[in-house]
Amino acid sequence: IKTIGVLTSGGDAPAMNAAVRAVVRIGKERGLNVKGIKKGYNGLLNEEIIDMTPKVTADSIMRGGTILLTARCDEFKTEEGQKRGAEVCKAHGIEGLVVIGGDGSFQGARKLAELGINTIGVPGTIDLDIACTEYTIGFDTAVNTAMQAIDKIRDTSTSHERCSIVEVMGRGAGYIALWCGVATGAEDILIPESFDGNLPKVEQQIIEHLLRNRARGKTHHLVVNAEGVGHSYSMAKRIESATGIETRATILGHMQRGGSPTAKDRMYASMMGAYAVDLLCAGKSNRVVGYQNGKFMDMDIQEGLAMTKHIDDYQLQIAHLLGK
Ligand code: ADP
Repeated sequence: IKTIGVLTSGGDAPAMNAAVRAVVRIGKERGLNVKGIKKGYNGLLNEEIIDMTPKVTADSIMRGGTILLTARCDEFKTEEGQKRGAEVCKAHGIEGLVVIGGDGSFQGARKLAELGINTIGVPGTIDLDIACTEYTIGFDTAVNTAMQAIDKIRDTSTSHERCSIVEVMGRGAGYIALWCGVATGAEDILIPESFDGNLPKVEQQIIEHLLRNRARGKTHHLVVNAEGVGHSYSMAKRIESATGIETRATILGHMQRGGSPTAKDRMYASMMGAYAVDLLCAGKSNRVVGYQNGKFMDMDIQEGLAMTKHIDDYQLQIAHLLGK
């Protein structure tokens, strides 16, 4: 193998740059040419391909976002698109490809592997919702960013004796909410994994909790709500009218995706990028890199995609008791 490519795909995540940088530097170390494909599979189909030298990745390890840019690409979900993608790789001499992204991006990687391009997936998402790994690139930074924002909201909500509902990202997963909720000492944490769709019931529980705490002299009440549960604004209105206690909702939004990555994200992303290159050097394809039981590892993409992930029951139970 002489030439490999690297792309970032799907939602961006802090420390994707650290992974790209590691692919470039370790690739060079192993005697490979490394090409960067811009804007995910979109850039592959449009042949937005550049030569990656360590100079291209200079000054990127501390920056959020992805210097390769990212995009979603519907055309790549079609057989025609995938064939064209494989042809473009071949035309540019790209024999191996590192795909940094989430489950959707790995589906695409699997298709390219079937078409003769050796592909390795690296888990990059702030949501932590990739089943075959305990760590995903960007989660640690996103959770720290959200935690710091919530700490600030908590200060002002205490001063005004308000109830605050803060909605954090995570798509269908509640990891960011669970971590932020515990880390900020939230009174209530709402996550999709334990939400049965009965919003009035959940609101009633919050209302009772809020009134109980107020009677005990607590000056604030913080609810961390997951994107997958949603409805933060309407929830705030109903809680305020039921209790007479001023209630505000804040949706943190895209600030959670940006910012300088934490040391943990830079370190793990670097290791995973390097690991992907070494898998390609060993002739492997159709694998996804993960982190399990304290070690970096890899498994078949298909096998990884078929796995499901559950939030630990003990963590959920303790999170609830800590806010009680
Ligand atoms: P993520 O990788 O973060 O899960 P998406 O689900 O949006 O994000 O997927 C990113 C891109 O991966 C899509 O825009 C598409 O180009 C490609 N992709 C997603 N699903 C498939 C699929 N089933 N087959 C081929 N490519 C796919």
